[in-house]
Amino acid sequence: MLLTHPPDVRYLSGFTGSAGALALAGSQAALFTDGRYTAQAKSEARGLRVVVDKKPATVLALEWLVQRKAKRCAFDAGHTTVAAVEQMRKAVPTGIRQKFFVAADGLVARLRQVKDASEIAKMRRAAALGCALFEDVLQYVVPGTTETAIAAQMEYAARREGTEAMSFETIIASGKRSALPHGRASSAKLPRRGFVTMDFGVLLNGYCSDMTRTVHLGKGKEWELDVYHSVLEAQNAAVAAVAAGVSCGDVDEAARSVLKRDKLAKWFSHSTGHGVGLEIHEGPRIAAKQEQKLEAGMVITIEPGVYLPAEFGVRIEDMVLVTAKGCEVLTAASPKAWIEL
Ligand code: ZN
Ligand code: ZN
Repeated sequence: MLLTHPPDVRYLSGFTGSAGALALAGSQAALFTDGRYTAQAKSEARGLRVVVDKKPATVLALEWLVQRKAKRCAFDAGHTTVAAVEQMRKAVPTGIRQKFFVAADGLVARLRQVKDASEIAKMRRAAALGCALFEDVLQYVVPGTTETAIAAQMEYAARREGTEAMSFETIIASGKRSALPHGRASSAKLPRRGFVTMDFGVLLNGYCSDMTRTVHLGKGKEWELDVYHSVLEAQNAAVAAVAAGVSCGDVDEAARSVLKRDKLAKWFSHSTGHGVGLEIHEGPRIAAKQEQKLEAGMVITIEPGVYLPAEFGVRIEDMVLVTAKGCEVLTAASPKAWIEL
């Protein structure tokens, strides 16, 4: 097996560099990288053979596999470019090239879905920091401030707390822009009256957090409160449905059925959630008809939303740890009740 997707390489070897290839042959494994990472690879990938050379890491890894008489090699098709495949083919002798490569998907991704105790501890810390950022940023959510200024406050505070980066581009969507499910912070100014959706996360010790809160500037209209409370009820229903053994589709349905009842399901245009870990979006998918069963130790998001085009949108997202009997909400420190600023 040849692994080149950095989160997979990190998961199996401990190496956090951005360029490296991990080769597995039977019970043997070796990590290949270049001169920039010599010291780092040796200190992080303990107990592994580390090879540093001028040749591309992938080429070295394949030569190593061929030397070990490998006849076939699975690689991650989802994260390999056409150009990389060309280079990979050339690294293998013509005689065995034809059947050598087996395009596979999610070889390590599946393993990564269930987190161990040390990963859970890191995710707890990332989620707790997310909650602290939300509490802190509320003082800056005032009419006339730009969305990017709100994002900047959050990101500055996150860096001061030691995060490597945000886990994705911070979403601050205010007023009519809150109807955009992925409204990245723009130069738009916060209105005097209307919703502000904030979807953000930090990358702390390699692990991502992800949460969304929607607050309201000025007094909410009855219709806005109704939509907010439908989304909140849908979100709580899905959180309540989470437990080991429950299918992802059933969790999605728990949220969707509340919005159906309130005739809002049509405006819930995405899935209910996703796994989160070393990457912001990973398995499992919490979506309609997904038969995959949740397992204790998975960390997923629950994030239903309603988006009324050219009017407003509401999304509420928590990160939850699946347990045998239910779940633990890792972002429980941030209130979900209606907030009027
Ligand atoms: Zn999010
Ligand atoms: Zn999310």
